Amino acid sequence: MINALEQYDPQIFELIRQESARQSGSIRLIPSENYVSKAVMLASGSCLTNKYAEGYPGKRYYEGQQVTDLIERLAQERATKLFKADHANVQPYSGSVANLAAYSALIKPGDTIMGMSLSHGGHLTHGWKVSLTSKFFNSVPYPVNTDTGLLDFNMIEDLAKQHKPKIIVSGATAYPREIDFEIFEQIAKKVGAYLVSDIAHIAGLVVAGLHKSPVPYADVVSTTTHKTLRGPRGGMLLCKEEHTSKVDKAVFPGLQGGPHMHTMTAIAVAMAEANTPEFVAYATQVVKNAKILAAKLMEYGFTLVTGGTDNHLILIDLRSKDIPGKKMAKALDRARIVTNYNTIPGDSAPPMNPNGVRIGTPAITTRGMKEPEMEQIADFINTVAENIDNESIIEKVGKDVLLLCSQFPVPEHFIKQ
Ligand SMILES: *Cc1c(COP(=O)(O)O)cnc(C)c1O
Repeated sequence: MINALEQYDPQIFELIRQESARQSGSIRLIPSENYVSKAVMLASGSCLTNKYAEGYPGKRYYEGQQVTDLIERLAQERATKLFKADHANVQPYSGSVANLAAYSALIKPGDTIMGMSLSHGGHLTHGWKVSLTSKFFNSVPYPVNTDTGLLDFNMIEDLAKQHKPKIIVSGATAYPREIDFEIFEQIAKKVGAYLVSDIAHIAGLVVAGLHKSPVPYADVVSTTTHKTLRGPRGGMLLCKEEHTSKVDKAVFPGLQGGPHMHTMTAIAVAMAEANTPEFVAYATQVVKNAKILAAKLMEYGFTLVTGGTDNHLILIDLRSKDIPGKKMAKALDRARIVTNYNTIPGDSAPPMNPNGVRIGTPAITTRGMKEPEMEQIADFINTVAENIDNESIIEKVGKDVLLLCSQFPVPEHFIKQ
């Protein structure tokens, strides 16, 4: 399909070709990124992009829903089975909208929400000051313990008792340890708050049984579908039976118009893929790889927030190396190692140039990289750090990275290289 584009729009074709080459010729360590399967790619590039399906199966506003109703029901069935949830809404355009829908389903504008502070690992949409979620709602962010980098449940409980939030948000975008959703539920119960759990990053680990699921504890679970879950770019909400109608209404007509049917179709494919022993093996390797990469980096003298990882993600505290996060991320990018600079808990540096770099293993594990490659990657990262101002060495690392990448092909999306 993609090769036909060469004929219709050579300019865009060429840009896609370049991006495809970049994705296969670099080590992608951004923990929120992945490579989808060919099946997911085909479904999301299918004719379902042509269909409007406002409403829900059996209750649509346009005709011609003979097939879309079947697809949405299948996507919902697969999602509820995979996550063992009462109900799934597979329409949210992305994780951010899913969160907004979760909040608006449960509470009113002006009510208080309590989510993890962005600078401590939370997401923008957990009530960070520049996000609409802090303008619409009264936001009281909770920090982590800046000495340990860990969630401090006594502090969270004290804050919750003091501010009486209507929603507590559990979940993170840069937290390398397991999150105890059960304790969150207990705190939420004590203060009469709803619990919303956002598993955007860890959904793939949750379905593989490698991270405790929030489904039994949370009123609403929000997720993206494109991170460790390895589906198309989208969002999803899971909830208890009692919240079904509120959640559905909050998504449509509350926040969205027509669902992206091509995305939903690809979500259905991804849910089927995630419900296989192969996916469990994949997710198991993601965590194994992260632990080995973390251990090797520590051997090289890197400081890691919380001293390691339980999941797919590692947060490097670069203060001990005296390298600013942005400088490190840029140097790594020149060496074909793609990461993002990130604040570390209690960071005194500004968010545009923080002291951390965030990395993760979902994408490289999809390519089939394992323990030996993790050792190699740790060595590359260390070489770049040790030679941060030496362009010829950084260039040499880039060549070694390219060689490694050539041995681990990405899923075949783009036939013509
Ligand atoms: C990525 C992420 C989101 C937002 O997802 P988008 O699809 O980028 O809107 C929400 N919450 C968390 C915890 C995330 O990591």
